[in-house]
Amino acid sequence: MWYRRAVSTSIALPSALARELGAIVGAEGVVSAPAALAVYECDGYTLERAVPQLVVLPRSTAEVAAVVRAAWRAGVPFVPRGAGTGLSGGCLAAPAPLVVCTSRMRSIRAVDLPNRRVITEAGVVNAEVTRVVRPAGLQYVPDPSSQNACTIGGNIAENSGGPHTLKYGVTTNHVLGVEMVLPDGEVVTLGDAIDDGLGYDLTGVVCGAEGTMGIVTAATLRLVSLPEGVTTMLAIFATVAEATATVSAIIAAGIVPAALEMMDRTIVAAVEAAYRFGFPTDAGAVLIIEIDGAAAGLAATAACIEALCRTHGAEDVRRAADEAERAALWKSRKRAFGAVGRLSPSYCTQDGVVPRTRLPEILARIESAGARHRLRIGNVFHAGDGNIHPIVLYDERDVDEAARALAAGREILAACVELGGSVTGEHGIGVEKMQELGLSFGPDDLALMQRVRAVFDPEGRANPGKIFPTPGICVEQRAPRRQAAL
Ligand SMILES: Cc1cc2nc3c(=O)[nH]c(=O)nc-3n(C[C@H](O)[C@H](O)[C@H](O)COP(=O)(O)OP(=O)(O)OC[C@H]3O[C@@H](n4cnc5c(N)ncnc54)[C@H](O)[C@@H]3O)c2cc1C
Repeated sequence: MWYRRAVSTSIALPSALARELGAIVGAEGVVSAPAALAVYECDGYTLERAVPQLVVLPRSTAEVAAVVRAAWRAGVPFVPRGAGTGLSGGCLAAPAPLVVCTSRMRSIRAVDLPNRRVITEAGVVNAEVTRVVRPAGLQYVPDPSSQNACTIGGNIAENSGGPHTLKYGVTTNHVLGVEMVLPDGEVVTLGDAIDDGLGYDLTGVVCGAEGTMGIVTAATLRLVSLPEGVTTMLAIFATVAEATATVSAIIAAGIVPAALEMMDRTIVAAVEAAYRFGFPTDAGAVLIIEIDGAAAGLAATAACIEALCRTHGAEDVRRAADEAERAALWKSRKRAFGAVGRLSPSYCTQDGVVPRTRLPEILARIESAGARHRLRIGNVFHAGDGNIHPIVLYDERDVDEAARALAAGREILAACVELGGSVTGEHGIGVEKMQELGLSFGPDDLALMQRVRAVFDPEGRANPGKIFPTPGICVEQRAPRRQAAL
């Protein structure tokens, strides 16, 4: 028997509203056939599914505003959606029956090179921004491993991170302003595209709001120079403990690498089998360490890092010989999740964060959770900022094993909080971690957050049933499904 949670949408979408929305976005902008709607039943978190009653694909801010206004008048809540790569069920169409997807809003409105900013529509794919400005020596830094698919709107909603956000900061640090459609259809502009603008940082409030305040339709993004020099290193350790101690030592030495990623033996073996980069499959753990900046200082910093690695037990420290080798190394890392399928029929990625000095402890706790629940758990994560992604391997056809996988994941999240961290590093709360939010926040905190949300969305029309537990959503547990993201 397989289990999965089916979530029932409890709010009916009137046919008159469906016709009105069709008139706004045009026939090709409406998804209403059951088979086509099934595509939108979940995001990358597949444990819970709910088929929406209608999906609309507006082409402009004006169309988004008209759609939302019509829904407002009809009393129907909506779910914003980008590429659907989210990993916490933020796009689940329940209890809201209507999905507003930005996938047809892919234009870059302005490239302002002198002021180092770009204005993109919400549906622009993350990697596209750097592709456009790279010839001018610039980049948009936040680089989630899903960057070839995920959208700027989704990145803003989840305040996404990535390997290179260790040195440069996460999405909120690179969004200067947003254009947003409020739940009653009003179009507002937050932020003034000038660094450190006056007034409350409302753009910062919207970053990480998971679509619960409205639909971001466009954003002004900060661009930064491509570094003059880059050195990428691979450090090989016999044990995870040595690798994690090295992470702390590098940062404690005052070095902030551009990226500092870890893969353990389980993941290295899968990645090597898939991509044949040349990882040593007998290593306990490897660190990918990248430093960038003025070319003049890089050699000395690399030497210092290498010495720290060796002091902490590294068996070998290699440097990428050229850009091709560096690209191959990052490709292996960023596509690691594709390789995990070789290890087990099903897998579930957890996302938590601890202060980086507690990495050795959380890795030990993960190992003991795996042993206690008789499960294999692999680890690949943004070690530099303490953001862990344990991948719990199991077989979804084995009901008992699936239940143990869920229990192990929850234990790991509780351990993160116990060690001074939090239940999400970058994947958000969505529906997945609504209960776990209470591990980090008391009732007063949660009530205050909901009051902030209510400033934008007093009626709870934008993505209800996410982040905060909502009474009345029917959840029937049937099966955990595979998911992974690294
Ligand atoms: C293989 C893989 C690797 C990943 N690696 C990373 C990583 O390194 N770092 C990281 O942070 N995440 C990572 N993720 C998670 C995911 O890619 C990010 O959360 C991403 O930002 C989601 O973007 P999306 O366009 O797919 O959003 P969706 O999944 O469509 O939506 C995510 C949330 O944003 C809301 N939303 C979407 N668009 C808008 C909008 N225009 N306005 C308001 N709300 C909106 C939705 O309602 C939902 O709550 C990974 C996922 C996968 C599958």
